[in-house]
Amino acid sequence: MEIRKGIAVSPGIAIASPLIIDSKDYRIPRRSILQSQRADEIKKVRDAFAGAIGQLTELEAASGIDQGNIKDIFAVHLRFLRDKSFRKRITDFVKNELVTAEYAISIILREIAAHFANMDDPYISERAADIFDIEKRLLTQLLGKIREDVDHLRKEVVIVAHDLTPTQTASFNRTFVKGFATDAGGRTSHTAIVARTLGIPAVVALEEVTASVTSESIVIIDGNHGVVVIDPDESTLEQYRQQARDFLHLEHELDALRDKPSVTRDGIAISLLGNIEFPDEAEETLQKGGMGIGLYRTEFLYLYSGTEPTEEDHYDAYVETIQRFKGQPVVIRTMDLGGDKLPYSARHSVETNPVLGLRSIRFCLQNLTMFKTQLRAILRASVLGDVRVMFPLISNLQELRQAKMILRDVMEDLDEYEVPYNPSIPIGIMIETPSAALTASLLARDCDFFSIGTNDLIQYTLAVDRANERVSTLYSAADPAVIRLIRSVIHDASKAKIDVAVCGEVASEPEYIMLLLGMGIRTLSLAPPMIPEIKQIIRSVTMQECNQLARKVASMDSQRQIKNYLRDAAMKILPEAF
Ligand code: PEP
Ligand code: MG
Repeated sequence: MEIRKGIAVSPGIAIASPLIIDSKDYRIPRRSILQSQRADEIKKVRDAFAGAIGQLTELEAASGIDQGNIKDIFAVHLRFLRDKSFRKRITDFVKNELVTAEYAISIILREIAAHFANMDDPYISERAADIFDIEKRLLTQLLGKIREDVDHLRKEVVIVAHDLTPTQTASFNRTFVKGFATDAGGRTSHTAIVARTLGIPAVVALEEVTASVTSESIVIIDGNHGVVVIDPDESTLEQYRQQARDFLHLEHELDALRDKPSVTRDGIAISLLGNIEFPDEAEETLQKGGMGIGLYRTEFLYLYSGTEPTEEDHYDAYVETIQRFKGQPVVIRTMDLGGDKLPYSARHSVETNPVLGLRSIRFCLQNLTMFKTQLRAILRASVLGDVRVMFPLISNLQELRQAKMILRDVMEDLDEYEVPYNPSIPIGIMIETPSAALTASLLARDCDFFSIGTNDLIQYTLAVDRANERVSTLYSAADPAVIRLIRSVIHDASKAKIDVAVCGEVASEPEYIMLLLGMGIRTLSLAPPMIPEIKQIIRSVTMQECNQLARKVASMDSQRQIKNYLRDAAMKILPEAF
């Protein structure tokens, strides 16, 4: 039995055999196999060679006469792949060392590449690049097969991976994928956010969990405490089975709150809205008692299909959502691409500092055709309900004015064709950068509402990558710098008489709710499965208690002190959540 501690990102307990996904862009970890799996792994090596040879032969045949150099490269690669002694070296390694096919391929090819690279003859040393190419081709054969396995699951599994993209996570078949564990990641990475929205128990930042499991293992994922147990003994297994039953029971109890009002004990109403990525999650928001959509992450339309959505794709998705929420708000955020949300095809063209680069509204303002297509669809849908538009990652007033100007241009186009829309559609912005937070009083004059995106606000305020497990202990909403910024944004919004919500992950973390209410927040937008638990907290506190707590926090000077204080307070109210 092995116990690993990571970061809990999505609650619940999952127990199943793993489906292991290694990333082809990552060092393949050493994973042992059983004697009985040797023949299977050797067959995998053979199949990978056969697949790669087939692929290269086709490519060679398809390349024209004028592509002589390319033809030569294919020929060199083919010669290499057909060399039996080379393949034998790999299969011998699998047999003798009892390791997976992908590990053997990666080790042997990297050994050969290193040998070539050290040669004095530049012609030979440059061949190292060819060897890396061949390695990639062989691994793609193997790993591509695993991806196919994910798409055609027939039994319940937990996914164990180095890392997953948000899109991969979103496409999991929930009937069979019961949970996941990854080496990398952080609590507010988009992969974690998607897991929470889907209600799949998940733990990230486990360092080398992929190296510790085999396909024969039993894996427990404890998404409540951030623990993964590999090959548990009988008593541990039974203990977790009981915990899984208790968790389901608690969920059912909380679901009974669905139709109860979201008010504090002293009668202050708090709006609880859902954060969604896809229109079908709107239904789940309703089922969990959500009163609208506070954040529709529309970039997932793009990420999921891998191609740019048409105006009709946007429109259809919005209509599906709006129709479920008659008379309740639906806040559509314009596409927030970049950072860790890149279409698969763009993964390799990343900038040196993608989080500080051409992402989000900046990307839209430089890709006006795409931006206008989306705005047209939002405006057309705006006549169907209480639709609001929100711009992400605004970092200065000029950017907001530019975005509004483009919205006005699109309105004029629609006027010309007499297409109906709501000319007074509420326009909001996300407060996600320290610059926006510090100039909130200026920005408030030019928009109708704020939504504080704490996931990014924490990242930019503390200069800590939200998806990097190596700095995850530094990433905290309890840092006094973050709390001061949030407090001042709320103050500026209230002075300007505009609404302010919180839609970052803190809105779904039980320990932060009293603080947010005490600082003046009356609208929270969060992952739908978390709504009942947060409602339970709201219904258990008085505003006086929240105000007192917020005042006390304002007098504290360290992240640790604040975090412990908030945790103790929340534990008294909902001990089951911890
Ligand atoms: C945020 O940054 O807090 C936010 C809600 O947006 P996203 O998580 O999509 O970046
Ligand atoms: Mg954000």
